[in-house]
This record gives sequence, C-alpha cells and structure tokens, in this order.
Amino acid sequence: MHSKKTHTVNVGGVLIGGGQPVAVQSMTNTDTADALRTAMQVADLARAGSELVRITVNTEAAARAVPEIAERLEQMNLQVPLVGDFHFNGHKLLAAVPECAEALAKYRINPGNVGRGKKRDEQFATMIETAARYNKPVRIGANWGSLDQELLARMLDENAARKTPLPLDAINREAVITSALESAERAEALGLGADKIIISCKMSRVQDLISVYQTLAERSRYALHLGLTEAGMGSKGIVASTAALAVLLQQGIGDTIRISLTPEPGGSRTQEVVVAQEILQTMGLRAFTPMVSACPGCGRTSSTYFQELAEQIQAHLRESMPVWRDSYPGVESMTVAVMGCVVNGPGESKHADIGISLPGTGEHPVAPVYVDGQKDVTLKGDNIAGEFTALVDNYVKSRYGRGRNA
Ligand code: SF4
Repeated sequence: MHSKKTHTVNVGGVLIGGGQPVAVQSMTNTDTADALRTAMQVADLARAGSELVRITVNTEAAARAVPEIAERLEQMNLQVPLVGDFHFNGHKLLAAVPECAEALAKYRINPGNVGRGKKRDEQFATMIETAARYNKPVRIGANWGSLDQELLARMLDENAARKTPLPLDAINREAVITSALESAERAEALGLGADKIIISCKMSRVQDLISVYQTLAERSRYALHLGLTEAGMGSKGIVASTAALAVLLQQGIGDTIRISLTPEPGGSRTQEVVVAQEILQTMGLRAFTPMVSACPGCGRTSSTYFQELAEQIQAHLRESMPVWRDSYPGVESMTVAVMGCVVNGPGESKHADIGISLPGTGEHPVAPVYVDGQKDVTLKGDNIAGEFTALVDNYVKSRYGRGRNA
C-alpha cells in the first residue's frame, strides 16, 4: 500500500489530496460558447454527483461564456467548481478575459500544448502567473497523445546514446512523467505553491497507466488526478478504466478521478460519473448511492422479470438520491438485493438491508421480502414491483429519517 500523503489542494471548496476522499470529476462535450447548453450539461453532471466539472476553453467566445455559465449554475443553486481546459492559446484567453480567469476554480494546462521553444516557457509562465494572481490551482495534465515533442526528442537522443538503450515504450512513459514533474517544479519556481498543483499523466493503455502513476507517487507529493485517457466506448471503456484505476486506488494512489468514456450515440454524458462513483463505491472507498445486488439469473428463471425489477429498483434509488441525500443521511450505504430464485435468494436478501427473492421456474409464485436479515412480508400478485418499491421507500424513511440512528 502506498502511504505517502499528497498535498491537499482546495479547488473551489472541494479538497483534493492529502487523504481526502477521492473526488469524482467529469467533462462536458458541449460547445462552451453556448453558455446555456453548457450550463445545463454541467448541471446534469453535478446532479449525477460530479464534484468538479471541466469545460473546454478554446476560443474567446468560450472564455467569455464562462462567467455566464457560472452565473447560471448559481441561479440553479448548484455549487460546482468549474475547471477550464486550455490548449495552445490559454495564455491569451486568460489575459483577454479576466472574468473567465476569475470564474474558473482551476485551470488545466497541458504542457505538451503550451507552445514551442522560447514561446513555450513564456506562455506557460503567463498561465502560471495568472493562476497565482487569481489564487487558483492548476492541473498540469500531460497526455501521451500530446506529449511535449521537444522533451521527447531530447529523451530519445539521450536514450540512443546509452550503451543499452531502453525500449521506446519505457521512454514514452518516462517522457510523460518528466513532462508533468518538470512543469510542476517550474510552476513552483514561478511562485505557485505545491498545494496549488495537481498533476496527471494520462495514458490510454492500462499497464502504462499503472506503471506511470506508481512512479509519480514514488517521486512526488503532488495531488494526483487519475484517469485512463481515450478509454473508449461501452463495456471496453468501463472495463479498461476500472482495471487500471482499481489497481492504483487499492495502492492508495489517486486523489481525484475522471472516467473518459465515449458516450454511445444519444447516450447520457452522466454515465462517466456513474461509473466513477461505482468504482469507488464497489471498492468500499466511498458511498454515493444505495447499491443493488442481483444474481445473474440462470435456467432456474424463466422470465426477465427479476432483471427488470433489479434495473427498476437501481434506477429508482439513483433518481431518489438528490432528495434523499439531504433528507436521509447515510442512505447512500444501503444495500438492496433482488434475486431470481430460492437457491441464493433468501441468503443474499438476508445479507442486504432489504432484499426480495423472486420465484424461479416451478416455484410457488410468491416473493418473500427480508428486512435487516429477517423475513418481513411475502408479496404476490401483479404488483410485486410497485409494492417492493414502496417497501424500500418506507425502509429508507424509517431507518435514515433525521433523528434516527443510521
Ligand atoms: S439465485 Fe437462482 S436464479 Fe439467480 S443465479 Fe442463483 S440459481 Fe439462478
């Protein structure tokens, strides 16, 4: 287990690093210049549980929209820190639109996309000095898809001069790490405190990401933003992100995470928030929303009824959370079981706070419900789903209602 504590960084009120709970963040995919649509998407992400939301700031119109986005969120009563994602022209935009520099809670700077040669240093310095002036933290976010080419060339030359040159992959990994760490040290030399710096080194391959972050955690105490870049779509993106992040989080590495999923056409952007939360919750690191345990089903179940019920209950729990979070503290740790037959149904249901064991093929058509490990009622008839949902709601009220012992 990695034990070195990172610096704590305050990003608009959200504490990252230093042993604080791992924060969940996400990024919009709207045109930031469209302030209304961007504010609506930020609101969706925040309501889904994103504790920070990053927006791209790529043009002057986008920079000018940032204060309006922040204002709209305030009107919606949403306190979510906005992170500005800058590439190539961040130094100009921050200087041209001071209201943007002020409204953002953090600036993300990609050291591979700041400029070339002498300009690179000047432009990087301008951004860091702006951050220091506005008292904002920065994320120095290296990405192997946009690696600092001058640095890479220097490291390749050094490698070629070695007696036994290292493989290209190893140089690539080292170059991403060096890019982030050298830039962070430079930011400190320019006057930004170590408690204002978060670093990331995004890689798109699981083993590369694990190796790079293990090295970063050994070599520095900067707070670490963790995420697999270009994770991809659907189950592949989820599995690859989970595989990489779980190994690192288990070692105590990573202070904030973002899951870079490509949404399915028409799919919700909030899926990346749900996946991030589920990684942290299933690992026992944080609790966000009650979780449903359900069996996979097998030849003992002749219908999809229990799958539908499991899905319906999970959706109901998630949808209820914005209200429950305030009214029923502790409810996020509740467990609910929805099981397909008598084989494991009663046992798993007893382990959950509340569980239902549906009848399998050939079983008596009744569904016993277990509450706190004890059989409570037996449901039957056409409205088992509605009745079980009502029982779950009642359980939440009686167990987590204010003034009760959770
Ligand atoms: S609980 Fe029953 S239906 Fe579910 S997987 Fe086990 S045997 Fe199959």
